[in-house]
Amino acid sequence: MESIASNLQAIHEQIDAACLKAGRDPAGVRLIAVSKTKPAALVREAFDAGQVEFGESYVQEFVQKSEDQVLENIPLKWHFIGHLQSNKIRMIIDRVALIHGIDRFSTAEELSRQAVKRNLHVEYLLEVNTSGEASKYGMTPDEVLPLSAALFSLPNITLRGLMTIASPDIAEAKREFRSLRILLDELRKLAPDPLKLSELSMGMSGDFTEAIEESATMIRVGTAIFGWR
Ligand SMILES: *Cc1c(COP(=O)(O)O)cnc(C)c1O
Repeated sequence: MESIASNLQAIHEQIDAACLKAGRDPAGVRLIAVSKTKPAALVREAFDAGQVEFGESYVQEFVQKSEDQVLENIPLKWHFIGHLQSNKIRMIIDRVALIHGIDRFSTAEELSRQAVKRNLHVEYLLEVNTSGEASKYGMTPDEVLPLSAALFSLPNITLRGLMTIASPDIAEAKREFRSLRILLDELRKLAPDPLKLSELSMGMSGDFTEAIEESATMIRVGTAIFGWR
C-alpha cells in the first residue's frame, strides 16, 4: 500500500485538477479524511502529513478514538458523518466541529435541546437521500424546504448546508450532486442568513472529482487515503 502521506498528496492533486476544470478555487474544497474502522495511529499519521479534518461514522468507535493517547493535544477537527440516533447525540455533541447526517426533524430538535442544555453552539448539515435508494438514510428532497422555517428557528444549532451519499453509477451520481446543489440554492432563498448556508458535503473516494465539478465544498474520502476497510 502507498503511504498515507503520498495518498493525501495524490488526492490534493486530483482536487486541484478538478477545481481547475471547474474554474474553482481549491481553497473552497475541504478534504474530510474518513477514518472509520482505522486505528488512531493512522489518524495521527495523516495529521502529521498535514490533514486536519477527520470524519467518523460510528458513535462508540468515534468516542474511543477521539480519546486515544496518540491523539492527545492534537488540534484536529472531527466531523460526525454517520447516521445519528437522538439518544447518541449526548455522546458526541461536545467533540465535533460539524455533524453531517441529521436526517429528520426530531433529531435536529434533540440536537438543539442538548446544545441548549450544555450551553454549546453546534453546526450541522441535513442528509438528503438524492438517489431515492431505500437502503440510504436522509430526508427526501421534497421534505427539506417545508421544514426549513422550523429548522432555522431551533436555538443553539445552525444549519450550514446539505450532505448526500450518491449512487455508485457515476452518471447518476453527477445528477444527484447537481440536484443537491439546486436544493441548497432553493433553501438559501428561505434562510434568514443565507451566507451561513454554504456547505455541500458530497463526494467520496470514487466520485469526489465529479462532486467538485458540481460544487462540493466538503468531500469525504476514506479508502483513497487509508486503504480498503
Ligand atoms: C465511509 C464513508 C465515506 C468514505 O467512503 P470512501 O468510499 O471510503 O471514500 C464517506 N461518507 C460517508 C457518509 C461514509 O460513511
